[in-house]
Amino acid sequence: MNRERSRDLYDRALSVLPGGVNSAVRAAPQPYPTFIERGDGGHVVDTDGNRLVDWVMGLGPMLMGHDMPDSVRAAIQSHASEGPMYGMPTEVEVEHAEFVCRHVPSVEMLRFVNSGTEATVSAVRLARAVTERNKIVVMQGGYHGAQESTLVEGDVDHPRPSTSGIPQSFAKHTLPVPFNDETAMHEVFEAHGDDIAGVLIEPVQANMGIVTPEAGYHEAVADLCDEHGALLVWDEVITGFRVGGPQCAQGKYGVDPDISTFGKIIGGGYPVGAIGGKTEYIEQFAPSGDVFQAGTFSGHPVTMAAGLETLRFCAEEGVHDHVNDLGRQLREGLTEVVADQAPGYTVTGLDSMFKLVFTRADGSPQSECCANGCRQDPSCDRYDACPKRGTDTTRAATDRYARIFRPRMREEGVLVSQNQYECNFVSWGHTAEDVERTLEAYKNCL
Ligand SMILES: *Cc1c(COP(=O)(O)O)cnc(C)c1O
Repeated sequence: MNRERSRDLYDRALSVLPGGVNSAVRAAPQPYPTFIERGDGGHVVDTDGNRLVDWVMGLGPMLMGHDMPDSVRAAIQSHASEGPMYGMPTEVEVEHAEFVCRHVPSVEMLRFVNSGTEATVSAVRLARAVTERNKIVVMQGGYHGAQESTLVEGDVDHPRPSTSGIPQSFAKHTLPVPFNDETAMHEVFEAHGDDIAGVLIEPVQANMGIVTPEAGYHEAVADLCDEHGALLVWDEVITGFRVGGPQCAQGKYGVDPDISTFGKIIGGGYPVGAIGGKTEYIEQFAPSGDVFQAGTFSGHPVTMAAGLETLRFCAEEGVHDHVNDLGRQLREGLTEVVADQAPGYTVTGLDSMFKLVFTRADGSPQSECCANGCRQDPSCDRYDACPKRGTDTTRAATDRYARIFRPRMREEGVLVSQNQYECNFVSWGHTAEDVERTLEAYKNCL
């Protein structure tokens, strides 16, 4: 496969962009990233003219794939040519907010921002303001964007910044605990309950492998928040309008967070974020309340039009059925391939997300109870070996994934997630043929 133009572009990029990219994960592919020319349904065409099945899908936003439905394209074009923005309100942001409030059970009111990061920054500020407390509980191996309060690792007794540039005095307000661990959650509330403003949690850990919650876990966390007067903040930036369809993960799991953050899909491929929840909380944002929050581009008309028309199309055309069905086919097929060729590896995911984690489990392959991806089923033979928390993925064969497996898959014409941690996303643009071709590639490359 000729990749000369990608190589040359990366060479140029290294002189003017740090690491040659504008977001760290894009530099993960070995030996250099694939530069993209254009999208085409479930495929991308790179700058050397290679057409590749694309499961990266923009890292999550591209639920429709790369071909926009006519209604989405028309709305984007008209808003782009009419302005494109004013710094004054427009009708389309009201309609988008109405749509989200109508479909997501816990959301009565919404503030749009420009990224998932901005959404979680504002959600943390809001939780601290509402409770007049400082500490935020987060999950080890969780991801909430590139922000000061959550780029923290370690444990409750020794939280430390996970990057340089964040003072230790900030990190001490963040309490990292393991996902899927009720005991750890009880303990942190016992020790710090009066200081905890909120628990910030992804319903499904989707940035470190894909780790689904054990039965009862989220309910237990919600109860603890209630008991101690802390806010439950669900980060639905990835899961929003992907897991559980238009009701999002909170509808699927039947949990009612106080505040939720959104991003990715709700902008229809344009930069977006949002903080939603009960009116009594969201109204505390300025100007109705005294928690300052603002943004020049927030509620940008082009983004709002793209997001709203995308969500409308999904609700009307059975998009979630299509993507979830292909997701199931991929997970089932992968479970078979892996049982044969790499029994120590674990297929994870749900709905339209899938992932093969290169776990080092010995003994039996994933059994039938999890034929459609790990379900945290205690009766499964592989229960102990399958990832229970995102951090388990760091112990997987990450170099084999990055240096051997992924480049081979690309040679087969299939782009999977750029490192072992990110997940793969199915879109409306993908077909059963893409699934078959992908399973064949896994067979050849494992
Ligand atoms: C992507 C992501 C973010 C950050 O969103 P950006 O738009 O990249 O700032 C936050 N939380 C979760 C769960 C995400 O997956």
